[in-house]
Amino acid sequence: MLLVEDDHMLRDTVAAVARGEGHAVTTVGDGLSAVHAIESGTFDIVLLDIGLPVMDGWAVLHQLGPRSVPPIIVISARGESVDKVRALDAGADDYLAKPFGSDELLARMRAVLRRARPPSSDDARVVRSGEVEVDLSAHVVRRGGTAIAVSPTEYVLLAELARHAGEVLDHRTLLRGVWGPAYAGERNYLWTFVRRLRSKLEADPANPTVIRTVGHRGYMFGDRPGTDSQPAGSSRTD
Ligand code: CA
Repeated sequence: MLLVEDDHMLRDTVAAVARGEGHAVTTVGDGLSAVHAIESGTFDIVLLDIGLPVMDGWAVLHQLGPRSVPPIIVISARGESVDKVRALDAGADDYLAKPFGSDELLARMRAVLRRARPPSSDDARVVRSGEVEVDLSAHVVRRGGTAIAVSPTEYVLLAELARHAGEVLDHRTLLRGVWGPAYAGERNYLWTFVRRLRSKLEADPANPTVIRTVGHRGYMFGDRPGTDSQPAGSSRTD
């Protein structure tokens, strides 16, 4: 785990909590060092403060861009929801407002790590919608035959939708299934991650055809069975 925090007291406290859970912890105190560490390291999770010297947390997220990087939990004193959405939009996997308790921190870390290691499934399907295909056994997403970099949480959400292609999954079901029971009311997470996926997968994100919005009920991968405009057999391979 990489801990990016310039406040020495908080850094020592968080590092001790994480080590107590069995995590190997590397710490850095500024944003530039964080980018270098993330690019050269093999961290399973990153805790990223926003207010940092040299390069702040926003710049770190921007620098990393949409590449597939370890899941990042932003830890920030700015507890307003607009910042939460901004962090998720910028590529973070979760957001934790200071001050936070060690139980809450560890719960978030466990949830993020669980999403980062999708359970091996015997679902060997490649599910398709238009030129997008989700390979459920290889955990790979392709568009027009080219692999697309998606974050661990983006993948888990997309795979959940693809496994139920042609079915409407409601908001609470998706939030519980992908993020966990504690997140059932956190629609911001769902909206933000659907927006992130659409920007990567849809030919026209404003008129999505891969991840469809179904009224106020939820989302659906592709078309309903039998109404797919693709030739028979190309929308799903069992
Ligand atoms: Ca700080």
